[in-house]
Amino acid sequence: MADNKRYDSQLDEANFDTLAVRAGYQRSPEHEHSEALFLTSSYVFGNAQEAAAFFAGDEDGNVYSRYTNPTVKTFEQRLAALENAEQCVATASGMSAIFSTILALLNPGDHIVSSRSIFGSTNVQFEKFVSKLNVTVSFVELTDVDAWEAAIQDNTKMFYLESPSNPMNEVGDLEALAKLAKANNIISVVDNCFCTPALQKPLSFGIDVVIHSATKYIDGQGRCLGGAVLGSSELMEQVVGVLRSVGPTMSPFNAWVMIKGLETLSLRMKAHSENAMALATWLKDQPQVKAVHYAGLPEHPCHDLAKKQQSNFGGVLAFEVEGGQEAAWTVIDSTRMLSITANLGDAKTTITHPATTTHCRVSADARNAAGITDGLIRIACGIEDIEDIQRDLAFGLSRI
Ligand SMILES: *Cc1c(COP(=O)(O)O)cnc(C)c1O
Repeated sequence: MADNKRYDSQLDEANFDTLAVRAGYQRSPEHEHSEALFLTSSYVFGNAQEAAAFFAGDEDGNVYSRYTNPTVKTFEQRLAALENAEQCVATASGMSAIFSTILALLNPGDHIVSSRSIFGSTNVQFEKFVSKLNVTVSFVELTDVDAWEAAIQDNTKMFYLESPSNPMNEVGDLEALAKLAKANNIISVVDNCFCTPALQKPLSFGIDVVIHSATKYIDGQGRCLGGAVLGSSELMEQVVGVLRSVGPTMSPFNAWVMIKGLETLSLRMKAHSENAMALATWLKDQPQVKAVHYAGLPEHPCHDLAKKQQSNFGGVLAFEVEGGQEAAWTVIDSTRMLSITANLGDAKTTITHPATTTHCRVSADARNAAGITDGLIRIACGIEDIEDIQRDLAFGLSRI
């Protein structure tokens, strides 16, 4: 009979790639090898007294799948092992991970200092919904630590950032920002969606909370939405409280897909990064290309910091063509294989025009100041053969 204890004790000193495949699983009495999927909303108890003990929290176990499900728990424990976090809370999506974190950890009257370069919907969430909680947000440049310090008010309770940024590959100094936050009793939060723990572990730099849109690289194949919040048990128990009473819970089915996604995370992130590096290097030599923004290139202003914080540079890059929006749209429309979509973190390479999609709600002045010009194209490199990606883009560029 397979023994779960034997399996788990092997993992005490296990490395990342082993944890990604094996961590966090409690095998069922059926001694299955692949992780089981528990599609159940509720659980039965032996008697009324046992039910009462579980509901009161005196007994640890499954009560109701809004906040306890074995498949979701496996995903949470596996991702926690990979991020080196005490606890992980899975959510229905990346957006609900962000909102649950704010609802759990902030109070009316509190203030957030946020990077200006954050996911578009996060921006909208802050301005339209977080504002209803009477929580205010100031935006600063990701790379300017002094600006973060200057933006701190008496009521500042949270730093919020993504690194590297979308799509310009700017990098925030995680260690410096975590230190600044700690000195001011501020909770530091990093959306680690672009790197995943395979490339960057923000908690190891002193960051308090990591957020994921698991929809992207963690699933990795564009099938399911999901999110996660990770940090100390003290903070995460408050996020669990939001799940229990508000309900932005990850479905067990999606958790099962994500568990399988984690098994190949390292391999995929390596392939995404290798393709992006090769593509960035090739794009630099194309006559129609004015600039390439990829932190893996030595000339990128954030290259050294990215190298310090990340084990690789990830799959997202941007490049600018001569001729503005018309030229950029010509390139995009002339490609025949690349998927025209704003999504990223998929095995399939995607091509996007940020100025008219992901960043269309940002004013033209602010866009241009951030380098997101009308001629900018974003590529989220998939794991297809690099020659085929290049051939498709070469054809697109030739049509300008
Ligand atoms: C996609 C994305 C989100 C939102 O995640 P969903 O799962 O789509 O809700 C948040 N942050 C970043 C950086 C993203 O790319």
